[in-house]
Amino acid sequence: MSGARVFAIANQKGGVGKTTTSINLAACLADAGRKTLVIDLDPQSNTTTGLGVDSHRVGLSMYELLVNENATVAQVVKSEIRPNLSLLPAKVDLYAADIELVYLDQREFRLKRALEAVKQDYDFVLIDCPPSLGLLTVNALTASDGVILPLQCEYFALEGMQQLLNTIRLVRDRLNPQIKLFGVVLTMYDPRTKLGSEVVREISEHFPKEKFNTVIARNVRLSEAPSFGLTILEHDARSPGALAYKQLAEEVIARAATLGG
Ligand code: ADP
Ligand code: MG
Repeated sequence: MSGARVFAIANQKGGVGKTTTSINLAACLADAGRKTLVIDLDPQSNTTTGLGVDSHRVGLSMYELLVNENATVAQVVKSEIRPNLSLLPAKVDLYAADIELVYLDQREFRLKRALEAVKQDYDFVLIDCPPSLGLLTVNALTASDGVILPLQCEYFALEGMQQLLNTIRLVRDRLNPQIKLFGVVLTMYDPRTKLGSEVVREISEHFPKEKFNTVIARNVRLSEAPSFGLTILEHDARSPGALAYKQLAEEVIARAATLGG
């Protein structure tokens, strides 16, 4: 295997579980012994703070890595914030990068280039994308082997999906021939409602190959953990949320092994 498998966790809708999945899938991959790097590519910096890193005090962060030619991953990375888990943090200045990148050379390839130097150091890289399809997300897609798409189990789960699928197609045609939809993960499932199981069935029909078997149910432990700067494994390792993300990590590991290249 030639270095890390890189996955963008993307959906231009906000509040669908991108950040929760980035943090806890990464924690479970690390817990399973895989060297994992999480990249916070959302100016809201929820992945950074959710992992207990104060985004106001990080120093160099994703903004510099994308905009400044001379910045390196080694200068920005918070190494081994947990065993096997490292973070490229974000802070609010990342909002400016989405605009400034427009004027820069090779604007879609900035993240890919920055990662080249460290891809050998990791088994998995997960990129938490912002809720938009701007240049930050395009940088993530250009740098990735695949997209992990979190969908919230609710009406209109598929709304706006066509735009994301079109963007993936555009990136594949022009910037990154290998990018594909690697997996769809259903989040915030509520087994008490009929709606939940209807959405699960609908997604299984639309994405029979891509849908992960693991469905992440609504679990209050998952929503509490980030306010303590903890992953679900640290906050409550026995919670249904922890078990679900562990199971998802196993699926990701198994499916990633079938990728070519
Ligand atoms: P996004 O990054 O796509 O905006 P988040 O991961 O931040 O979405 O999730 C949105 C909100 O839903 C957050 O408050 C988060 O804590 C909560 N949440 C996400 N997944 C779950 C879940 N499985 N159970 C309960 N709350 C969840
Ligand atoms: Mg988020």
